[in-house]
Amino acid sequence: MGNYYQPEIETMPLDKLQALQSERLVKQVQHVYENVPFYRGKMDEMGVKPEDIKGIEDLHKLPFITKDDLRDQYPYGLVGAPLKDCVRIQSTSGTTGRRVVAFYTQEDLDVWEECCARAIMAAGGTNEDVCQVSYGYGLFTGGPGLNGGSHKVGCLTLPMSSGNTDRQLQFMTDLGATILCCTPSYAANLGESIKERGLKDQIKLKAGIFGAEPWTEEMRHDIEEALGIKAYDIYGLTEISGPGVSFECEEQAGMHIQEDHFIAEIINPDTGEVLPDGEIGELVFSCITKKAYPLLRYRTRDLCYLTREKCSCGRTHVRMHKPMGRSDDMMVIKGVNVWPSQIETVLLQQGYQANYQIIVDRIKNNDKIEVQVELTPEMAEDENLNTEVNERKLVAALRGMLGITVNVKVLAPKSIVRSEGKAVRVVDKRDLYK
Ligand SMILES: [Zn+2]
Repeated sequence: MGNYYQPEIETMPLDKLQALQSERLVKQVQHVYENVPFYRGKMDEMGVKPEDIKGIEDLHKLPFITKDDLRDQYPYGLVGAPLKDCVRIQSTSGTTGRRVVAFYTQEDLDVWEECCARAIMAAGGTNEDVCQVSYGYGLFTGGPGLNGGSHKVGCLTLPMSSGNTDRQLQFMTDLGATILCCTPSYAANLGESIKERGLKDQIKLKAGIFGAEPWTEEMRHDIEEALGIKAYDIYGLTEISGPGVSFECEEQAGMHIQEDHFIAEIINPDTGEVLPDGEIGELVFSCITKKAYPLLRYRTRDLCYLTREKCSCGRTHVRMHKPMGRSDDMMVIKGVNVWPSQIETVLLQQGYQANYQIIVDRIKNNDKIEVQVELTPEMAEDENLNTEVNERKLVAALRGMLGITVNVKVLAPKSIVRSEGKAVRVVDKRDLYK
């Protein structure tokens, strides 16, 4: 147990931080060149030698790694440490048919858990807290990452995993959980159950650390209200380590990237050109301390921007804005780019909760999109409710946001299956690859 708020690192002046990054990058490039033949081949192809990389100013000379590379090199092609030194794997769900298996040495695990510990401390956690980890455990990084971080902070850790809402609520109330870690959709689900069962008085939660799926500011406000907490965003991806690559401080104004371990860049996704702070583009990470799965310039497909504006929490590490969605999540409908988060924003602005599903289909070469959303219990009880009027209002609001016409179906409360992990927001019935 210990104090994992590390001001000597987290509030380090920029010049010192960059010197540290440069020193670690130079070593890491040598490590990767010597131990990952695939990446050595890429560097050789571009005529880049390890000695050409003298600091972070040379980062742009290195080749990118893409998700396709990970797939092609599955399972062992990108491993940078002898297997006898690797102690764990974690893996993505592979829902898009692209399973990623990432490897860790014991030291890599310690770094990852330390990043999660920093996130818990940034959310106000101490060794006096009871931390309920309701992310899935197993191959998914959410449970193991926050579990390890919670141990390091010294919280009493409840390794609940996801699902079994009755048991979650029983432990939450009986043991007086003060911090909740799970996906935002599961937090919303728990909030709804607490309200239905009239348990709010028995809930001692003060903070929640929610990530692993996109969520909007409106959803944050709903969760904060339902659970009586401050809700903090956390970001990470299996390829880079897991949750804790970046996280929010009490300002809730972007997530601080743990720059002593990860260098972030924003690039133009079409040209690969590095963009200045403040411009939206694809987020790229280089791991400068990981040994077993040491990805350099990994293209995340997440679109966001970075800011180095001073943060009043005192941390100097760069902040990333919440990703606008993964480019994987983007749907092209009737030739228009549509993000599920845009639809969610409209629904919550119109007073609905985040219980919705987006159905996309193609009929006679015409894309059809339907948004199904549940009435809130309050709306359903309103005697003057006219669902047709509600649907028309939503159609207009969605047209304003997306620029296309969307069918809307307003459903009774509880019509849509609740998520216990990542919510299924989009059902795309089009077979676009025939
Ligand atoms: Zn801050």
